[in-house]
Amino acid sequence: MNKLEHNHTMTDRAVHPVIWDTDYGMVGSINFYLLDTGGSLVLIDAGLDSDECRTRLQSELKNIGATVADISRILLTHHHEDHAGLVPWLLEQQNIPVHAHPDAVPRLKADRKFLEMRLEFFRTLYREMGCGDMGAARFETLEETIRDADELALRTEIRPLEEGDSICRLDVIETPGHSPDCISFVDKRNRFVFSGDVILDGASVNALIDPDLDGNRLPSVSQQRQSLKKISGLDTDVLLPGHRNEIRNHRELAAEKIARMDRKDVRILDLIRGGTHVPAEIAQAYYGKKYHAVFPLIMSEIIGHLDFLESEGKISKTMTRGIWHYRAESSD
Ligand SMILES: [Zn+2]
Repeated sequence: MNKLEHNHTMTDRAVHPVIWDTDYGMVGSINFYLLDTGGSLVLIDAGLDSDECRTRLQSELKNIGATVADISRILLTHHHEDHAGLVPWLLEQQNIPVHAHPDAVPRLKADRKFLEMRLEFFRTLYREMGCGDMGAARFETLEETIRDADELALRTEIRPLEEGDSICRLDVIETPGHSPDCISFVDKRNRFVFSGDVILDGASVNALIDPDLDGNRLPSVSQQRQSLKKISGLDTDVLLPGHRNEIRNHRELAAEKIARMDRKDVRILDLIRGGTHVPAEIAQAYYGKKYHAVFPLIMSEIIGHLDFLESEGKISKTMTRGIWHYRAESSD
């Protein structure tokens, strides 16, 4: 079984992976980690809010002779529901600190003003990218999510972690792209990294379009590229990711992912040169039926790559009747 090796034991600390094999979102498994720092347990990510994840966590705690009460703090690699799921349940049992990137805070707390701004951001984005009915349908789903947001909101204080911070002898590095708030935790001494979703073995990580706290579109694909380079530059032995197997060839894998992004850029540029100018049409030409099946992911990909190509001076855009049209620059 090609699985995460259990219980990486270092001189004074041990990592106990909690793994749930699942086809949730085709990610393969949901992984989160108990770090025994010699006396106290730190939870890195908190799985999905499901009975399966709760049971896995409890049985791993039992294996090491601990209980939920021994967890002293929670560190989150990002705010997504498959990483922060059990946080409310854990906080019900005891009030422990939760640490995450500042950009995770309004998302985890379901800050009404932020969510409304984000809703408006997507309404405009989908309209201007030519998504028509698909965009309108997606917008309705987002509106519903806002209505339920209060129930899901974390009520606790979230302590901010940024690049250069250090906690429990883990160095924080910012690795955005998949989400604006993605961070990784580096244990230099023991040469491992809790890497969240920045890079996965055998699955592609989508760079998801999102606004910053002021409502400006973040350059997700550029960020993802930079994060992959940052990960690639780490002098470490093993990445402990949010899904799938642990990664022992992070340089090679990061280079593969970047090459894949390069190929995507070339294909998108070819489509534009071939006369497809509207983002929603580029998305359909590129992805076919997948455009309808996984619309938000596909549009994120296409918009992210268009932003990247534009930042590289390879394409430019003009607005015609409220919709952006992209054209290739004549050079090369
Ligand atoms: Zn994830």
